[in-house]
Amino acid sequence: MVVAILKYIIRSIVFLLLTILTQIGGVVYLLSLLTHRLTDKQTTKTWQKHLYRTASFVALYNIATFLLVPLLARPFGRVPLPLTQKDHLRPLTLLTCLLNRHYVVPAMKKVAIETAREMNQRYPGTETNYLDANFPFLKGFPLIPHLSHNDGKKLDLAFYYLEAATDRVTNEAPSPIGYGVCEEPLPDEVCTYCACSSKGNWQYSFLTHIIPQGKKDKLLFDASRTKTLAELFAQREEVEKIFIEPHLKTRLHLQSGKIRFHGCQAVRHDDHLHIQLK
Ligand SMILES: [Zn+2]
Repeated sequence: MVVAILKYIIRSIVFLLLTILTQIGGVVYLLSLLTHRLTDKQTTKTWQKHLYRTASFVALYNIATFLLVPLLARPFGRVPLPLTQKDHLRPLTLLTCLLNRHYVVPAMKKVAIETAREMNQRYPGTETNYLDANFPFLKGFPLIPHLSHNDGKKLDLAFYYLEAATDRVTNEAPSPIGYGVCEEPLPDEVCTYCACSSKGNWQYSFLTHIIPQGKKDKLLFDASRTKTLAELFAQREEVEKIFIEPHLKTRLHLQSGKIRFHGCQAVRHDDHLHIQLK
């Protein structure tokens, strides 16, 4: 009895975690439980049973993520962004796609690709890295930890950088996930994260404490390309708002009224741009 209850609790936690992280992972996990009877027959060793069960989940999850979900999401009004570099737009990390966090409404895909192409024309060699977008299904389903990425109309993009040693342009970013390695305010610039932290918004700078900062000195913020990227999006009729940290809006002389401060309830935006459609 106790074992059965424990098993139920563990399975519920796994289901919840997978759903929060990937949206479809929880459902795939439940389906994979149906395969246990079949996989358990293949061996008598306990460790091998667990291995086969895990392999079954991984296989089902990959089939769902890369074959089924892109097809099923389309009737629900969401399309995936490119998995690899296409039209000069690519995920900074494949993890974003593996977790199904790269879905947008078709209008956002069009704006993102056209802007990435334009960036490449103006700055040859430039590839634009996208970060978290939205999940494939259900309006209102939260993409934790983001507050608003729940309707297909939101997309985060990494800033551009230069190699510190050579001053040459690079398409790399200093954070492995694009978030958490920030372009800090200079001494004479407004320090928004200081103000937010002093108001008790502990989450505002949270990622900077857990993301490795090792590449921070190797890559320099590319103000020129990042300014152009923000301006190209701001010029688009379909774009409603762009979030960037206030000290960067001032430093880059960004004039558009669409480019705004997101508020202390969110997180720092001096590591990425947040684009949102009307
Ligand atoms: Zn965002």
